[in-house]
Amino acid sequence: MTETMTDQQADSQAMESTDHTGAGHKGDTLLELTDLHVFYGNIEALKGISLTVARGEIVTLIGSNGAGKSTTLRAISGTHKPRTGSIKLAGREIHHLPAHEIVSLGIAHSPEGRKVFSRMSVFENLQMGAFSRQGQRIDDDVARVFDLFPRMKERRSQKAGTLSGGEQQMLAMGRALMARPSILLLDEPSMGLSPILTEQIFTIIREINEQGTTVLLVEQNALMALNAANRGYVIQTGKILLADSAANLAANEQVRQAYLGEI
Ligand code: ATP
Repeated sequence: MTETMTDQQADSQAMESTDHTGAGHKGDTLLELTDLHVFYGNIEALKGISLTVARGEIVTLIGSNGAGKSTTLRAISGTHKPRTGSIKLAGREIHHLPAHEIVSLGIAHSPEGRKVFSRMSVFENLQMGAFSRQGQRIDDDVARVFDLFPRMKERRSQKAGTLSGGEQQMLAMGRALMARPSILLLDEPSMGLSPILTEQIFTIIREINEQGTTVLLVEQNALMALNAANRGYVIQTGKILLADSAANLAANEQVRQAYLGEI
């Protein structure tokens, strides 16, 4: 074994020692949802969702339009509160907390539709992502985001609203990483992207994970998601239909027919 750390290992060690949930070990349950019921008015969008994500994993949630994938992420990040059920982060109940406290505990959400601050520059958007870490040095994290997304470095002064769709997606992910999360919630990161950009985004997701960030990934592109993930859940009309390793789900006949476009 060599004594010198690669930059990636150093980054990874920095992330592990400073993330918000502290001293947990790889493989410990980081996020736990139990019997979650979420409503929009009278419509019950989640009808008793239970799932877990272990520290260090990439877990994907796949399902058709309207199944409840985005709602699950909104419930976790506190932007749409569950009516009943519980959400725990590293064993601590968080579902009653306001969204900004949930961010500061280590959950960052990159929402569907790349909600960047369009009148702010790329750099200002990244600074906003670090709002939960006031007073802390953020230069190293900006540098890390620029390493992951060199295009953002080139465009650091450009107004976010004038970036292309793919660039806005990169910025939304970069901004979420600025919170130095223990777990990153990614909603449809490949939406609207070309096949080449989609490949790039998935490579970056794996890189982010290798650097120590746990990932919960919602995707329409089930094949790409299952290739990147360790485990997956299939969600249908607000309920978990299947839960298994990503490899088993990718081989599952029902999944192949319904979500991988096979007849
Ligand atoms: P998609 O892949 O199409 O984004 P999804 O699996 O992410 O779908 P959700 O967006 O979570 O699905 O929606 C779950 C259900 O909740 C759907 O029936 C949807 O119409 C409903 N819903 C979502 N947001 C709202 C809202 N703001 N008001 C009312 N109903 C909503």
